Amino acid sequence: MSGFDGIAHAGVAMVTCMDSRIDPLRMVGLEPGDAKILRNPGGRVTDAALVALVLGVSLLNVSRILVVQHTRCAMASAGEAELQARVGERLQQDASWLSIGAITDQRQALRADVRRVRSHPLMPAEVEVGGFLYDVDTGLLGDPVG
Ligand SMILES: [Zn+2]
Repeated sequence: MSGFDGIAHAGVAMVTCMDSRIDPLRMVGLEPGDAKILRNPGGRVTDAALVALVLGVSLLNVSRILVVQHTRCAMASAGEAELQARVGERLQQDASWLSIGAITDQRQALRADVRRVRSHPLMPAEVEVGGFLYDVDTGLLGDPVG
């Protein structure tokens, strides 16, 4: 592969979940080189994701930001305490101190995350930001949330 220059050629950055059922580029019809992809458990706009998005819009040609959560996400499958218990059980250690970030309401979390991006002091007003719920069974992106 040659010709990659690190710029997001389609002007897109996507924050999405680390779930292996998700193929972020194919989800939105893009190809390698087109987009900045940031992944973490749940597809949350974390502090680290925000820094990456600011770098994207300032230096890497990003003009559209998609925040994408998905159906049947493990992070939304149980509460914080239960996820901690599952991790602890598997590792045979106390994991109750680990901040996992369980999601209780995905649409609410998406709206909050979109607001978080839009309200960042270094986020240009003209950047489009949208939140979406991806259906892992149908392979379709839902209508914009937030
Ligand atoms: Zn997930």
